[in-house]
Order: sequence, then structure tokens, then C-alpha cells
Amino acid sequence: MADCIFCKIVAGEIPADLVAQTETAVAFRDLNPQAPLHVLVVPRTHVANVAELADREAETVAELVRVARDVVADAGHESYRLVFNTGEEAGQSVFHAHLHVLAGRPQSWPPG
Ligand code: AMP
Repeated sequence: MADCIFCKIVAGEIPADLVAQTETAVAFRDLNPQAPLHVLVVPRTHVANVAELADREAETVAELVRVARDVVADAGHESYRLVFNTGEEAGQSVFHAHLHVLAGRPQSWPPG
């Protein structure tokens, strides 16, 4: 989508700190990190949220999780939190599906 910031990162049109890429997913560091490791894993396909991705490309949902696991392991962490904010009230601000990968500090529950 022309005005989607994550589509532009996937296309290499704007810079990002890439940490992993596969045929269907791209991982890059969040601009505003909330943990020592905070990476976003996004599908190359533009979909608004993870539920839409599950409908259109179910295998890519699994791929996002595999990439997240590998990024965490490569950074030397064992514990991590995966988050898909879905909808404005849940904190979603970019409407291209993305998996937040957070690691490197203790994390409280419930989340804010
Ligand atoms: P969400 O609020 O769940 O939609 O998450 C969007 C995330 O994208 C936020 O954590 C932002 O810090 C992050 N973000 C926005 N623009 C960029 C960018 N150009 N590069 C990396 N991360 C970004």
C-alpha cells in the first residue's frame, strides 16, 4: 500500500535496522524500543492485522513466530513476549500487521 510505512520498509524505500528476512517476513528494530530487544516482525504482504493475515496467509503467521524465536535466540535471550496489538483501543497505531518481540528485561503482567 502506497502510504504504509511498513510496506515502505519491506520494499527498502525507507531505512530500518533490519535483523532478519525470509521469503514472507521481515524483522527490524522498533524505533521506540520498550525493552533491550524490541523487534517488529511483519509480513511482506500488506494486511491490516494478524487475524486478516490468518485468513489470507495462515502459514505466514507461523513464519512470524519462527522469525521471532530465532531473533530472540540470536540475541542470546531465552524469555520473550510476543504481542499483536489489534485495533486502536488495544494500542495499534500502524495498520500493517506486526508482531512485537520484547526481551531482555523482566516483564510484568497484566500488561498496561
Ligand atoms: P503498534 O502501536 O502496535 O501499531 O506498533 C507500531 C510500532 O511501530 C511502534 O512500537 C512504533 O515505535 C513502531 N514504528 C513506527 N514507525 C517505525 C519505523 N519507521 N521503524 C521502526 N519502528 C517503527
